[in-house]
Order: sequence, then C-alpha cells, then structure tokens
Amino acid sequence: HNKLPAGSYRSTCCYCGVGCGIVVNRDRQGKITVEGDKDHPVNKGMLCSKGMNLHYTVMDTSDRLYYPEMRYHRQMPRQRVSWDQALERTAAVFKQMIEQYGPDSVAFYASGQCLTEEYYVVNKLIKGFIGSNNIDTNSRLCMSSAVAAYKLSLGEDSVPGCYDDIEQTDCIFVAGANPAWCHPILWRRIEAAKEKNPHMKIIVSDPRVTQSCAIADIHLQLMPGTDIVLHHAIGRLLIEAGHIDHDFIQQHTEGFSKYRDTVMERSISSAAAICGITEDLIYEAAALLGNVRSFMTMWTMGLNQSAVGVNKNLSLINLNLITGKIGKPGCGPFSLTGQPNAMGGREVGGLSNMLPAHRVLDNPAHRKEVEDFWGGTKISDKPGLTATEMFEALNDGRLKAIWIMCTNPLVSLPDARMAEAALQKAKFVVVQEISNKPETVRYADVVLPAAAWTEKEGTMTNAERRVTYLQRVNEAPGEALPDAEIICRFAQKMGFKGFDYTGPADIYAEHSRLTAGTNIDVSGVDYKVLKDKRSLQWPYPAGTTGPGTPRLFTDHHFYTSSTKAIIHSFPDDNRSAPPHPQFPLILTTGRIRDQWHTMSKTGKVSKLKQHIPAPLLEIHPEDARERHIKEADIVEIFSENGTVRVKAQLSTSIKKGVVFLPMHWGKILDNDLNRANNLTHRLVDKISKQPDLKYTAVQVQLY
Ligand code: SF4
Repeated sequence: HNKLPAGSYRSTCCYCGVGCGIVVNRDRQGKITVEGDKDHPVNKGMLCSKGMNLHYTVMDTSDRLYYPEMRYHRQMPRQRVSWDQALERTAAVFKQMIEQYGPDSVAFYASGQCLTEEYYVVNKLIKGFIGSNNIDTNSRLCMSSAVAAYKLSLGEDSVPGCYDDIEQTDCIFVAGANPAWCHPILWRRIEAAKEKNPHMKIIVSDPRVTQSCAIADIHLQLMPGTDIVLHHAIGRLLIEAGHIDHDFIQQHTEGFSKYRDTVMERSISSAAAICGITEDLIYEAAALLGNVRSFMTMWTMGLNQSAVGVNKNLSLINLNLITGKIGKPGCGPFSLTGQPNAMGGREVGGLSNMLPAHRVLDNPAHRKEVEDFWGGTKISDKPGLTATEMFEALNDGRLKAIWIMCTNPLVSLPDARMAEAALQKAKFVVVQEISNKPETVRYADVVLPAAAWTEKEGTMTNAERRVTYLQRVNEAPGEALPDAEIICRFAQKMGFKGFDYTGPADIYAEHSRLTAGTNIDVSGVDYKVLKDKRSLQWPYPAGTTGPGTPRLFTDHHFYTSSTKAIIHSFPDDNRSAPPHPQFPLILTTGRIRDQWHTMSKTGKVSKLKQHIPAPLLEIHPEDARERHIKEADIVEIFSENGTVRVKAQLSTSIKKGVVFLPMHWGKILDNDLNRANNLTHRLVDKISKQPDLKYTAVQVQLY
C-alpha cells in the first residue's frame, strides 16, 4: 500500500449502474477514505449508503486472496504456487480439453462488474483465438431482456436518453423497479426534480409498496407477470383517447396497426382483473401519460428477469413510440442498468451472442470485420452458451472446464443447488476472485487472486452511456493482479499473439479503434481524453471535442434497416409456471437497500448490516394467518427446486398471494437455507435467455 503517492484520486462507484463519481483520498499511511465527486455530472457529490462506505471494503483485506493456488486432484488441498505455475497448468488443461473435446468444451463466465478493458480481452481470447463463443456474464441475469428489446424496437442496444432528462420531464413511469433502494442517487435526483416541479408526476408499477412509492402519484400494485397486460391496456386507452402522435407513428415507426388491433383485443376490465388492480387506476395512469408534454419510462429487473422479459420491455417501449415520446428532452425509454459496467461489457461484445461494438455473431460481415481486426483464428458462427446453459452443460458433461471471474454464480444463478452440483461435476474450475468468501472458491482447481476496485485502472460505462475513467489508487495485496493482466498472461501461455499490451490504455485504444464507424463509435476516446474530460457519453467519434452525445435519435432516425422504430405486437400472456394448490404463492426476489449482489463486498461493512441484518420473507398478513404464521416466526419456503428457511416479516406492503425474499445471501458453512435461489427455476425468456427470477410458485409453512 505504500508505492503510490498520497493524494486524491478520481474513480467511479463499483456498485450499481448509476455510475456515481467518487474521489478516493489516500493518506501517507495508505489509509483510504471516499467522498462523492462534486464535479461528476451524475451525482454532483452525492453518494448512497453503499458508495459512502466503499473505503471499508478496500481497507479490510482479511478475506483477500493473496497468491495463486492450485491442486491436481479434487481430494487434495490447494497449494500456493507461482503465477507461472498456475497459468501454465491452466493453459495445459485448456489445450488438452480443446484438443480432446473441441473449443466449445471450455467457457468463461464473467461479470457486469468487470472493467471494459477486462471484458475486451477475455472476449477476444475466447472468440478470436480459442474459437468458441462460450463467454457469458452475469449481465445475462440482469439486462439481456432490455438489450434484446432495444435491438428489436430501435435497431440496436442503445439507451436513447440521459439522466439530465429527469430534470426536464413531466412524468416518469417506473415499471418493475425500486430505484429508491437499488439506484439511490438517481432517485435522489428524481425526488429533487419533483420537489422543484410539483407538476411532475410519478407512476410506479410493482407488486410491493416500496420506498419508491413514497413519492408516486399513482401506484399500480399489479400481480407479478402481468406487466404486458397493463402496458397494453394503457396503450389501448391512449389510442382511444387520441393521445398518440399520429405524425410520429406514420413517419418514424412500423407496426402500429397490428399493435392497435392487439391491444383492442382485451377490455380494460379484463386487464384490471388479471393485473389485480382497479380499472380506475389504469384509466388514471393512461390519462396522466396522455396529457403530459413529456414522459420517461424506467425499468429494471421486474421487467427483465422474466420468462417474457423481452415482451415486457417491448410493451413498455411501445408506449414511448405511439406517443412520440423519444429522442426529445424529458422523453424516452430508459432501462436502469443493474451493474456498474454492464453497458461497457456489451460495448465490447461480452455476451455469448455478440461481437465487439454491438456487432452480432450471426452476421458473417461482422464476424469477418472482427476476424480481420484481431488477426486470429476464425470466429465460430455457433452462438455460445448463456449463463444458465453453461451450468446445465457442466451438469450433463457437455462442458468440461469453466473459468469464473468476478462473480458468484452459486448465489446469483437460478436453481443454485443445480449450479453447485454442476461445479462439482466439472472437470476443471478456475476461479479469478478478490475474496476467499464466494462459494465458488471451494470448487476451484485453480484460484487466481485478482486486484480489487481501487487497485487497477480502467473504464466503466453507466446506464446513460457515460464512460468514466477509474484511477488506480493503491497496490493490490500479495501477488493479486488486475483481471486484464491475468487474462493476457494466460493468453500468452496459450501461445496466442495479440495480448502483449503495454497496459489498460493500450487495450482501450484497441477497443476504441474497433468501434470506428459503428453506432457506438468511441474512436475519439482515449485515456488522455478521459483523464481530461473526467467522463463523456458515447457515441464519441474521432474529432469530437464536447461532452459527447447525451441523447440519441433526436432526428427520429433509428438504427433499424428502414430507420423506423418497430412497434411490436404479441400476446399478453406470461410463460412462467403458474401457482397451483401445492405451491399457491408467487415468490419474487430482489435487492435490499444496503447490500450489493452476493455481499462479497458489502457483507464486510458492519454499518451496512444494520439496515436488514438477515434475510426475511415478506408475506401478507392474510397469507400468514392462513398458515398460522406470526411476525418473526421461522418459516420454510418450498418450491419444486428446493427449500429456504428464514424469519417471516408480515407486511401489508406486499400483495396478497405474493411473497418476497432478498437475493443476497448464500451459503454459510454448509447451511444454504438462506439462499433465495434454492427456490427459483431455470426457465428463461426465449429470446434473451434471461431467467425468470421474479416468478416462482412456492408454498410457505411454519417451521
Ligand atoms: Fe454507488 Fe449506485 Fe450508490 Fe451511486 S447510487 S453511490 S453508483 S451504489
């Protein structure tokens, strides 16, 4: 911790996709404190409870992995080895697997918390050189439905608006999200905007009365899985009231007449009955959206983590399209990114069906462009395995080796017990991690210690397409290395050329060259520009000098082949396995305010444990009474997949028939009964392959 000088360093919060700027102060003794960056346009000095306690996660190195470790047999304990030994053996095993079973026998499972440079090199390694597309990330569990919907409706995965739209809008429709807890600084901006403009309206749709409902003018407390029904009903009322933009529809969209016919098929009374809300509320919401000058739609996991996640997204985006509320100040569909750099990962093509700069794998011209650029092997046209498919393939033996970096799938994947069994069956498991806590470490044949947030430099892109540079602040403990360096050293051990970068700036420069001429062109960005400007919004082609592009589609030309946005039509039904007498309740899972994902960082901060120290099952008092459950009783929750045992919290804030569990807790020693994902199932959206984590049929009983 002593080699870098004391001083103030600029970084970005490594938790959610809001992307708050942070100043990290380091004194001569190496002690670290953090404060919000007053000059950063996202947060203007503010930080939420997680962000303002980030220094504790840096200073507490008690759980850090210090050295590479390896074992030759599962029965052996792992031994400390050198980096060369660990990477040479890993390369030898990967080569042997590839030779014996083909390149698709190995896979990388990465994270929306990786830096853009890290994503870039691992994606290049497997797609360009190993010859498989088996790379996916936990973004598959997070944003893939939004990605697919943007592509289908706007022609590309591109968030049209920016945070400054919040201060310019008349109305925000927050669908299936609780930003007050999950995107807190964004929500502070929304609260401040509403305070300043009392005419600004907020609509929230959510089966729970969350903190975000505190400032909502309308709360649509719908049943899980009924979002499309609601959005179609609002669409119908907007059309019937003439609150649509005929010129915009005619000139800039396709598919309206079919959409109109589709939404007219269901009456408002039928929609209200299915959603479990009153007709009046649907009329009120539609009248509000129809009469405002501008509105934004915002959403996260309530729409994305669904067996019909893409259609849920499209049905919401359609409301912006039929009213022409897109590409203008205060307007647009705005997906709230769950993770700090899910957007950056997509920029470099870090999903199993993508290529760099939003190119797509099934386009031969795109493959050729990237092959020529990388000068490596031929890129396979076969889509790689997605997150859940990887673990299914490990479980049934199709996949032999997996390399997990910067994520903890044994807490976050659906049907977590199956994922655990899959890792047990894998022939070879590499875990690249900062902490010895994640359950994956137990199954690792090779453990590679990674540098943490402040111990490396790189870039991240937040939910509004804003790229921010993160400075290195302190040395990594022991022999831990930055993730990009680990991947490049491994690629060289595999004998691949093209990984001898001089550092992250060099990797970013290569990435930016590969974006030239695309819709996400950042060819005008390098580390010098980023250090100078602090942050900017893409596209940012060569020659750009300002802050970038805050808003897309201002000319109403979309990225589709016709340049028109597509209004999609589809049935409003849900594909989830419905409740039945054995499992009559619907379980929905999600985040709590002060914890982040699988708690490997926030779980170390005692202040953050005070808010909700242990998982609780939120259950409606009437559902509890029917089961003789009282407040704080221990209850068991069962689904077809498994069991969870936690305390009950009786609350009228949750809809009757629905129960809620936080997703953060994993296994403690051998007890996995806190783990919400014991219960969830592996059903995924057909297009996005995102799991249906918000809808599991369960039963609850007193323990
Ligand atoms: Fe970090 Fe998100 Fe909180 Fe900002 S809102 S400080 S990015 S966790």
